Amino acid sequence: MKMHVLTLFPEMFTAVTGSILGRAQEKGILEFQFINIRDFSKDKHKKADDYTFGGGPGLLMLAEPIFGALSHLGMEKSKAEREHVHKKLLYMSPRGKVLNQKKIETLAQEEEITILCGHYEGVDQRVLDYWEMEEVSIGDYVLTGGELAAMVLMDSVARLVPGVLPREGSAMEESIYSGLLEYPQYTKPREFCGMEVPEVLLGGNHKQIYLWRFEKALRLTKAVRPDLLEAFLRNREDFTKDERKVLEKVLK
Ligand code: SAM
Repeated sequence: MKMHVLTLFPEMFTAVTGSILGRAQEKGILEFQFINIRDFSKDKHKKADDYTFGGGPGLLMLAEPIFGALSHLGMEKSKAEREHVHKKLLYMSPRGKVLNQKKIETLAQEEEITILCGHYEGVDQRVLDYWEMEEVSIGDYVLTGGELAAMVLMDSVARLVPGVLPREGSAMEESIYSGLLEYPQYTKPREFCGMEVPEVLLGGNHKQIYLWRFEKALRLTKAVRPDLLEAFLRNREDFTKDERKVLEKVLK
C-alpha cells in the first residue's frame, strides 16, 4: 500500500516511519511519501497561507500549492474515478466523521491513500470541493494541525495490511477489533512487587486460558464500554456451550 501525505511539516513523520512501519517499508509492503505543500507555492517567499475573506481569526492554507501537490501526484479529480482505482483522498479535519476500527478496516483494503494535513484555521474550502475530499476526524477535540491525526490513521491502517505485523492475525485479537476490550496480559517474572501472575495462565490448559481471557474481556468491556458489549452480543450468536456459561455468569 502507498501512503502519500501532504503537509507543511514533513519532518514530523519520522515518528511514524520507525519501528514496525519502517520495517514494512523496507520489505516493500508499505511505501510512504511525504510532500511539503510549501514546495508547490508560486510565491517568492514560499507562502502557503493567507487571511480569510470575511474576516475572522487566523490564517487559512492557500488552495494553489495544494492543487499543485495533488496534480504532481497525478491525483484523479473525482471520488468516483479514485474508487475505480482503489485510491482514497482524505482531509484530516475535526468536521469529518470520527474514525473507528470499521473505517480503518475498509481503508486497509485500498491500494493508495493520500492524506492532506491542515494547519492554522484549515484549508480553503475550494480544495475540498474541487477534489471531492473526504473529511476524517480522529475525535471530538481540536488539534493544531492534521499531522498527528494523519499519523494515527496511518498507523492504525498500516498494521492491518498483511505482512506488516510480525505475527499474522495478532491484530484480530486486540481490543475493539475482536468486539471486546482486551483481557489483561502478563510476562516474566511470575511474581513482581508481591503480585502473582494468575495461576490459570501458567498451567498450559488452552481451553481454560481461553475461557479465563474471555471472561476478563467481557467484564472489562461491561465496566468500561457497555456500548461495545451490547454491540458484541447483538452481532454474535455462535457461542459455544462453555462461552455461554461464562456469558451468563458475567451478565447476571
Ligand atoms: N478551523 C477548523 C475547524 O474549526 O474545523 C480547525 C482547524 S485546526 C486548528 C487545524 C488543522 O488540524 C485542521 O485543518 C485539521 O487538519 C487538523 N485537525 C484538528 N483537529 C482534528 C481532529 N480532531 N481530527 C483530525 N484533524 C484535526
